[in-house]
Amino acid sequence: MASDSDPLVEYLSARLEDARERARAAREVSAALAVRAEIFAALIRHFRERPDDLLLRCSWCSRIGLGYRFVVADVPLGELPAAVAERTTHGICPDCAERLRYESPGGPAPPPRER
Ligand SMILES: [Zn+2]
Repeated sequence: MASDSDPLVEYLSARLEDARERARAAREVSAALAVRAEIFAALIRHFRERPDDLLLRCSWCSRIGLGYRFVVADVPLGELPAAVAERTTHGICPDCAERLRYESPGGPAPPPRER
């Protein structure tokens, strides 16, 4: 019976760990691509359904709001076509508003310098 010190078992164990690690990395890439696809679908929906409405861009974190629920995109604005940036207006996202409410009891801090 082969033991763990068997070179063949050691080799196969290393291949198993390599395959598991590659599968984990592929799942992460797949999840990130699925999120990105949802963002582009939301952008298309926005520009089709409300072509005259500007997207809201958070002045604190630079993320943009998408859809009716203010879904915040995790794609930096710089990665989107310039035409998208031209159709944004500044505001504040719910996450930053909540954070500022606790960090600045005397009133909200001004937005960081324009990025
Ligand atoms: Zn924000």
